[in-house]
Amino acid sequence: MRAFRDESEQQALQQLVTKRFGMAAGTYGLALLLTWITVAGGFYQASIDTAVAGSVMILASQLVFSWIFYRGHNLRFRDPSLTEPQVLVALVWLTFFLFHFGDHRGSLLVLYVLVLMFAVFLPPKVFIRYALLALFSFVGMSLLDVQLNRLDDPQAALLQGSVLLVTLIWMCLFVGYVYRLRQRMRQRRFALQAHQETLRGMMRQLEDLASTDELTGLYNRRHFLRRAEAELSRLRAGHQSGLALIDLDHFKRVNDLHGHATGDRVLQAFASVARSCLRDGDILARYGGEEFVLLMPHTDAEQFSACCERLREAFATAQPLDVQLQAGHLSLSVGLTLINAGDELDDSLQRADEALYRAKGNGRNRCEASWTTANA
Ligand code: GH3
Ligand code: MG
Ligand code: MG
Repeated sequence: MRAFRDESEQQALQQLVTKRFGMAAGTYGLALLLTWITVAGGFYQASIDTAVAGSVMILASQLVFSWIFYRGHNLRFRDPSLTEPQVLVALVWLTFFLFHFGDHRGSLLVLYVLVLMFAVFLPPKVFIRYALLALFSFVGMSLLDVQLNRLDDPQAALLQGSVLLVTLIWMCLFVGYVYRLRQRMRQRRFALQAHQETLRGMMRQLEDLASTDELTGLYNRRHFLRRAEAELSRLRAGHQSGLALIDLDHFKRVNDLHGHATGDRVLQAFASVARSCLRDGDILARYGGEEFVLLMPHTDAEQFSACCERLREAFATAQPLDVQLQAGHLSLSVGLTLINAGDELDDSLQRADEALYRAKGNGRNRCEASWTTANA
């Protein structure tokens, strides 16, 4: 088998090829049956040898095509189901078959249409080539018969040729129409795919907008609650997650002394400091105003306290962009707790809030914890 880009492409192609080969096999099977029925019925002008020759032609061509498909790695075909060579073989066989029918061949002219039906999805230029081949084969064979005086009624051959010509012209026009229709459908498909891509991009933008806090770029409260609930539902027995509420100290004072814009810069500075302290799986969000919430999956009391301490210390030395603040002006308080499997998020937030209240009460710029949980 030749190299495919991915498995689904290979499967789709194999299905198509199997279908086409199946159709070819069925059609040629019928052709063979027809050959032998005509020989058995005595309609054939030729001996049994010509029927054998026709059958060999079909069987040999199918063997060669199968070999090309399954073994011919180096032969590159635009159409791996080999429609063009199949149509060519069928036209040659049909001409060979009809050659022995003399005056009766008119009734079997429709077989040319049947063969060419397999080529209707080829580009019109290619189809016209095969239509011309069918016409010239028929006309050539009739002329040869006239030459050899094998026809009782040469006028009938003229009529048959004309009918074939008209039918083929009609088929060529039909194939042109099918081709244009397919082109239009392909263009529409591409346009639709482009629209889908744009829509997907817009959806992503919308999702980002709906889940992000504009000022800090952190998640917003709503998104946090959704993610936290999902995270907790996945928490297995025996594992713990850390939850912390973080509140900037005397933030109102920063606003009052330095202006609201400076306050905004401080909030942004907190976000960037926190991002640099946390890992990818940690979920940090702006809970409201100058209050933030952190969920750290799979941690323990020691690890989680150490992390919150690091965050507190890092924020104390943060340098908000374009802002001059006196040293010691920035601090935060943290209330932390642990969540066990089966704990309610609301209860855990309540515990963290109580711990934060204690941190504020004990002089701010510190971390306080409420470790005892309902399911500990
Ligand atoms: P505490 O240490 O007790 O937490 O005191 P605090 O001043 O930090 O708390 P308080 O709740 O009294 O004030 C919070 C202030 O945060 C009030 C509000 O104007 C300000 N604030 C809330 N959101 C924003 C914001 O987006 N930008 C700015 N610059 N200030 C904000
Ligand atoms: Mg505050
Ligand atoms: Mg507050």
